Amino acid sequence: MKQDAETIVVGGGLAGLAAAISLARQGVEVLHLAPPAPPDRRTSALMLPSVEFLLESGLVERPEAIGHPLSTIRIIDATNRLIRAPETVFKAPEAGFEAFGWNFTNTALMRSFSDALPDKNLTTKPNAVRAYRREGALGVVTLDDGSECAAPLVVGADGKKSLIRSAAHIVAREHPFTEAALVCDLELSRPLGGESIEFHYPHGPFTLVPAGGNHANLVWIDEAPVLRAAQAEGLVEAILEKSQRLFGAIKLESPSVIFPLGMLSVDQAGRDGVALVGEAAHAFPPIGAQGLNLGLRDVSDLVAAVMAADRSLYGWGAAASVDYARRRAGDLGRTGSMVEGLFRSLLADWLPGQAARAGGLWALKLLPPLRKQAFALGMGERAKNRALSLR
Ligand SMILES: Cc1cc2nc3c(=O)[nH]c(=O)nc-3n(C[C@H](O)[C@H](O)[C@H](O)COP(=O)(O)OP(=O)(O)OC[C@H]3O[C@@H](n4cnc5c(N)ncnc54)[C@H](O)[C@@H]3O)c2cc1C
Repeated sequence: MKQDAETIVVGGGLAGLAAAISLARQGVEVLHLAPPAPPDRRTSALMLPSVEFLLESGLVERPEAIGHPLSTIRIIDATNRLIRAPETVFKAPEAGFEAFGWNFTNTALMRSFSDALPDKNLTTKPNAVRAYRREGALGVVTLDDGSECAAPLVVGADGKKSLIRSAAHIVAREHPFTEAALVCDLELSRPLGGESIEFHYPHGPFTLVPAGGNHANLVWIDEAPVLRAAQAEGLVEAILEKSQRLFGAIKLESPSVIFPLGMLSVDQAGRDGVALVGEAAHAFPPIGAQGLNLGLRDVSDLVAAVMAADRSLYGWGAAASVDYARRRAGDLGRTGSMVEGLFRSLLADWLPGQAARAGGLWALKLLPPLRKQAFALGMGERAKNRALSLR
């Protein structure tokens, strides 16, 4: 079998595109398999360290040209439970930052990444992968037209149902939730400024994220049948009610889309010449805006692992995949547990669980050092180091 590239990246979502471009820009010969997909109607709140990574890797040139800063997060407990949390406002300047991050539409990110396509080292094909196997030091993928391509390292960026993950026998733990997320774009009667507003209901948060001027992106987590009923019976009225009529008249600016939610994790994000990035390696509910942030940290560690490998050696792909898994282990474990814990505490019917959550928010409201630590945890390791140095 002859080698077609040093690395094959499978999947044309944001994680796959970021991985293909970042590797090629570092001089790695990449074959990117990116079959056409429907437009991604999600939006991504990306924390400052992720935006810094996008700037450093040339995937975004000017965040202000394609996104909107997030400087305040307001959490309103709308549960009517016996033990309720206080309204809590987190302001980025308290942690020494102008903004926690930026809110982008995924389509704007996709355009910006595509503008950064290098003219060397990267070949893109619109083919899906039908099968994967290992032959000696090479990973071999079979494309939907029956042809085969081979490379020492194969990156699975092919989403939650990753074929590369299952063909490489990397076991995923999956737990579906009965909750789902409805997303759509809205026009409100007043601007949100830089404030993201989360109403916490018993089945999950209803969040308005600023999208510039009077525009907002809605991420509403609730039981799937409730979301489907709202879609069928009049979404605007349901949104007015859930947002406690605080924003005047509301207009829908896009179709609404419902995403099923669940937890997915792997013990190892790489082995035997396969590295998994993005939702092929981890998926969870969009709480605390972690999914793509984590996916971009995958890409950053993938580039580091490939650059650390001696690509002239037989078997370098397998060594790089193991190094990649080692680099990712801590972050994937920490972030997955944090998001799962947060999500379950939001849904807790159990009184001590509600008390713990309310107590936690009181503590965050009243204790500035704890708030600083919480900011840092949500923003990732690079921000944590910076926050510690600001103390
Ligand atoms: C409602 C919602 C809101 C979110 N908000 C945020 C947020 O605010 N901040 C944040 O950081 N994250 C957020 N996320 C998470 C974020 O959207 C995802 O983590 C990210 O978009 C996943 O990108 P991906 O490239 O890994 O996967 P995908 O976007 O699923 O891309 C996978 C790609 O692989 C391709 N593919 C599949 N099978 C094959 C095959 N056999 N061969 C070739 N190609 C294949 C598909 O066509 C697709 O293009 C949110 C998620 C949801 C559901």
